[in-house]
Formats: sequence, C-alpha cells, structure tokens
Amino acid sequence: MRELVGKAESRMSKQIKIFDTTLRDGEQSPGCSMRLSEKIQMAKQLERMGVDVIEAGFAIASPGDFESVKAIAETVKNASVASLARALEKDLDRAYEAVKHSEKPRIHTFIATSDIHMEHKLKMAPDAVVRQAVEAVKYAKAKCFDIEFSAEDGTRSDPQFLARIFDAVIEAGATVINVPDTVGYAIPSEFADFIKKVRGNMKFDHRADWSVHCHNDLGLAVANTLAAVQAGVTQLECTVNGIGERAGNAALEEIVMALHTRKDQMGYETNIKTEEIMRSSQLLSSITGVYVQPNKAIVGANAFAHESGIHQHGMLANRSTYEIMTPESVGLKETKMVLGKHSGRHAFIDRLKTLGYEFDKQKVDELFEKFKALADAKKTIYDRDIEALIIGEREPDPDHISLESFMISQGLGMTSTALVRISKNGEQIEEASKGDGPVDAAYSAIENILDLEARLIDYQLHAVTEGEDAQGEAFVVVELEGQKYRGRGLSTDILESSIEAFIDAINQMITDKKEDSVHGNDYDTENFSIKSRA
Ligand SMILES: [Zn+2]
Repeated sequence: MRELVGKAESRMSKQIKIFDTTLRDGEQSPGCSMRLSEKIQMAKQLERMGVDVIEAGFAIASPGDFESVKAIAETVKNASVASLARALEKDLDRAYEAVKHSEKPRIHTFIATSDIHMEHKLKMAPDAVVRQAVEAVKYAKAKCFDIEFSAEDGTRSDPQFLARIFDAVIEAGATVINVPDTVGYAIPSEFADFIKKVRGNMKFDHRADWSVHCHNDLGLAVANTLAAVQAGVTQLECTVNGIGERAGNAALEEIVMALHTRKDQMGYETNIKTEEIMRSSQLLSSITGVYVQPNKAIVGANAFAHESGIHQHGMLANRSTYEIMTPESVGLKETKMVLGKHSGRHAFIDRLKTLGYEFDKQKVDELFEKFKALADAKKTIYDRDIEALIIGEREPDPDHISLESFMISQGLGMTSTALVRISKNGEQIEEASKGDGPVDAAYSAIENILDLEARLIDYQLHAVTEGEDAQGEAFVVVELEGQKYRGRGLSTDILESSIEAFIDAINQMITDKKEDSVHGNDYDTENFSIKSRA
C-alpha cells in the first residue's frame, strides 16, 4: 500500500518555472542585439507564451539596457521581470530602479565562485567573496523581495564552498539559488550528482527555489538542464532558439517539449502554452536575422517533415508511427489565408488584436496603409506578414533618411547601375552609381549621396512566407565609421528590401550618435568587459 501511495505521488505532476533570458544572455550574443521596440515586442510574446520570469537585461551595462529593462517591467503584467546585477551596490541600485515598476520585480545578482574565477578574475579570497555576496543580497533585499543569487562558473566550483555561500545568501534573503554551467562544461549525470551534493551539505536549501542555467558548448545544455530537473531543480533558465553566448543557452522549446512529451518520465508541468513556441521562434528570427538550422529540434523547418517513403507510408497509416508530438502542439499550422486585398480596416484591427497587438489610432492608420500596399502586391496575407510589418518599427525621427525611389539596370554580361533617390531633412537627393551587382550598385549610390563609406559584413535574404509573391526580409550588418550596425528591410521586391535594410542600418547609426551625445560615451565603461559574462 505504501508503495502504491508513493508511486501515485511520484506520478502527480509538479510545476517547473521557465526563466527566459533571451533578452539578456541571448541579446548579448553576436548578431542578436535588439532595439527597444523589438525587445518590448519579444517580451510581450514571451508573456503570451507563459514564461514565469523574463530576464529583461543587465540594467547597469548601458543606458539602452536600463531603458529596455524599465520599459519591459512597465509593460509585462503576468511574468516576473528580472535585471541582472553584479554583487555591487551601484549595480543593485540600477537594477532595482529598472524593475521596480514591475508587478513582480526580481533582482538577479551574481558573483563568481570557482577557484579559477575568484583568483584570476575577482582577485579575491573565498571568505571575501562570501562576505560580498551576503552584503549584496542584504542590500538588494531591503529594496526588493524576490532575489535570485547565481554562483558564476558554478559547475567548476568546490561543492563545499557553494553549500557555504548558498546557505549564507539564503539567510540574507535570497529566494532563488541558481547554479550556472557558465562555460558549458558539465555532463548530465555528473551535474545532477553535483547539485545533490551541494544541497546535501546545506542547512537551508529547502528555503529557496533551485535553478540552473546551462550553456551549450558541448551540445549538452538541454540534457544538463533536464538532469537537474531530476535532481529536484524547479526553475530552468533558457532562451528561445537557444541563442546566447558562444554556443548558446539551453533552448526553451526543447526543454519545454521534452517535459511535455515525456511527462511520463519527468512528471513535471510548465506554464508554457506550447502552441506559441513556433511564433516565438519565428519572431525572434525576424527581429535578429539569426535563423535556426533546418534540422533544429522543435522549431527547425524540417523538424516535422517526413521525407522517406517508409516514414511517409507509416504516417499515412497512423501519424503516431513516426510522430512523437504533433506540429499543431508547437503552433505549426497549415498556413491559411488570413486577409487579402478586400479586407477592410475592421478585419485588420481584429487580426492585430488576435495577434495580441494594440496600438493607438495613428499607429493603426500607419500600419493599415502598409497593409493595403502589401495587399496590392501580394494575394494572401498571413499572420507572419502582419507581424513582419510591425517588427523593427522605429520612432519617427526627422534626422532619419528614407528611400524615395530607385531604378536599377542589370543583366548578364553587363555592369549593374543604380539610380537612387533618398530624402534627408526634407530634401530629395539622387545619385547614380555602378556596382558589382544590383545591390552593390544601389548601396554605393547611397554612399555617394551621404558621402559615407560602408563595409558590408553580412547580407541575408529570407522569404517571410511561402509563395512566389512572398515578402522578402533582408538583413544587413554594415560597418560605418568603424562601428557595426544592423538593418532590416521588408518588401515583396527583394531589391527594395535590400536597399531598405541598408538605409535602416544607416538610420541606426544616426540614432546611436544622437544617444551618445545625450548620455556621453563615458557611461560606466568598465561594464563593457562584463557584458560578456555567464
Ligand atoms: Zn549565461
């Protein structure tokens, strides 16, 4: 009987919290930086998907980081909003200032605990590290109830020392204890044993929630995360599409679908609406221009494609022969016609609402104009098309340049030439230029107009949806005056989207220059080195 009760209990599912750090750890990885409006759009989608905690940024790292954490804290209602902070008063002050308007603010503070980090990076003795951690947690606790403490490079730390520092910070008020595998070094079975060992040496381990944060350097981030679940950890840190430092973080969609599909083994539930997974993944790709590989688990283009004849035969007989989860369960639907040329304003606003967007009248008018123009060029308009129109929307800025018109002549065996007209401060200027292909010709015409020298570092083109009349999303990374800028352009004409992407990157430079002149360049510069941590 006792055995039966035990079994029944173990089968009852327990709750796992999903801590998403797409906007902090993910955003600081190469090519993934986002603008304020993009971060807010992503945060809203994370909330819609049901994540429990959104780590919105590292408030002290820059004025831009601070503003985005603050804006997300003010926007998001259902999830906790966290800011990262070193165990320093100035960081903790800044973090609290940024998250304090959240319904559920959290400060996430950290200090390195491995011998190698304490000796070479912090240049501090272990006793001093414990003291600083405790002081930081006490200081933060006086401002904010919910305090997460992370032991940076946790998996390469001495488990006895971790037990000591964790007990101390829990006594000081930490509510969540996070064990990061900062360098992606752990092996699943070892990681689970490690956590049990640390907790086994503690007095107060049951007084905090337990969390892990795994990096994917050995391709084991998700495996390590799931092993930690089996060692009793209940908060999992992850990112959409697994973006993050180096090889990235544990992928949210893989963790969630593993817990969901193998609930029989794992026995845990999450608050994630799995049907929102695909939309979250695609939104992030469209914002950053960083796409997942086709064979990526859960969200790759081929993740639910069955090519071989034997598999197809099986699938036709019964889907479960080769399908362990349905495409519908991750939100992969047959693309259906949503709107078209004859759809009115009402239908469009309705669709925006269904997608979770609410804008003021002026903004809706603006988007509706874009929608009408798109409907003239494209027969059917899908949700992805509408979302693509919203991404990367900039605040209107009189100093920005815009594309007025262009004409390109090209052909096999002839030099491409482009004539481009842009408007700048109310004035229209045009220039012609030759180039190595149509895009190069157009870009060099713009360089002539603005007397700029640009170096194209990356150029990508993706179709937003299927079909010959699909919108093309162009992404560029351009070096201008020694700095890299990202730009995105959208049109059913791929040359137009390519030119728009270039102009978008130039406008980003114009915006950044203005912000620098407001905030100054000397803003806590020491933090540039810490942007690349855990
Ligand atoms: Zn990390």
